[in-house]
Amino acid sequence: MEDYQLLIDLHKGADRQGPGGDAETRMAIDLSMVDRAAPLQIADIGCGTGSSTLLLAQQLNAQITAVDFLQDFLEVLESKADRAGLSGKISTLSGSMDSLPFSEGEFDVIWSEGAIYNIGFEKGVTDWRRYLKVGGILVVSDITWITASRPSELQTYWQGEYPEIDVASAKIGLLEKKGYAPIGYFVLPEYCWLDNYYRPMQNSFKSFLNRNGNSEEAQAIVEAGNREIELYEKYKTHYSYGVYIAKKLD
Ligand code: SAM
Repeated sequence: MEDYQLLIDLHKGADRQGPGGDAETRMAIDLSMVDRAAPLQIADIGCGTGSSTLLLAQQLNAQITAVDFLQDFLEVLESKADRAGLSGKISTLSGSMDSLPFSEGEFDVIWSEGAIYNIGFEKGVTDWRRYLKVGGILVVSDITWITASRPSELQTYWQGEYPEIDVASAKIGLLEKKGYAPIGYFVLPEYCWLDNYYRPMQNSFKSFLNRNGNSEEAQAIVEAGNREIELYEKYKTHYSYGVYIAKKLD
C-alpha cells in the first residue's frame, strides 16, 4: 500500500473521506424504509473511517460488515466503534470492492457512500446485486449532474476524473435495467461538501505538508485537492452527490 501512504495520512484523521452528512445518512435510512427493529445484515462498502457505518450501527438492529481496501482506515473505524460501544455490531473486512468474498443473498442492505466511483456505478450496482436478498435494499451515493448542460471546463474536468458522471435520470434508468426498483433519490446539500468535507481537508493541508517534509508528492496532492475545491465552488449548481435508494427485484 506504499502508494497510498500520503492519501491515508491526509484523510485518516477526518470524520469522513468524502462529501456526506449524518442527517443525510439518516434521511437515506428513512427513505430505504428498512424495519429498524428487524435483525439486518448490512455491508458498508468503501466505508473509510466509518462515518456511515457507526451511524447505521447506532440506528439499526444490524450486524454490519464494513469493507475498505485500506487497513489503516479500518483500524480507525475499529477504535471509534470501540469507544462508542458499537464493536459488537461491526466487523471490518480489508479487501477490494471488485472482488468481495460474500455469498449470494447474504445481505438485507448494501450501503456505499462516496465510494462506488472507484469501480464505476454500472459495475458496482451490477456486481453487488447478487449479494442482496430478494427485496433487499441498495443505498449508494454517486457524483451526479444536477443540470441538463454545463460549462465545458467543468465537463472536461469530471469527464477525466469520472467518466460515469451523469444525470440522475440516467443512473435511475440503469438501476431499473439492472433489476432494481428505485424507491428514493435525493441530492446532498452544499454543506455536505464544504462544511463536512472540503473545509476540514483544507484546514489540514498545512500540517499534512509539514509532516511530509513538503515533498513534491504531498504538494501535488494539495494542489489537486485545491483544484477540485475551486471547481466545486465555481460550479456547485451543476453537480453534487446523488443518493440512490433501490430495492432488488426477484
Ligand atoms: N464512505 C466513506 C465516507 O463517506 O466517508 C469513504 C468515502 S471515500 C471518498 C472512498 C473510500 O473507498 C475510501 O475509504 C477508499 O479507501 C475506499 N476504496 C477505494 N477503492 C476501493 C476498492 N477498490 N475497494 C475497497 N475500498 C476502496
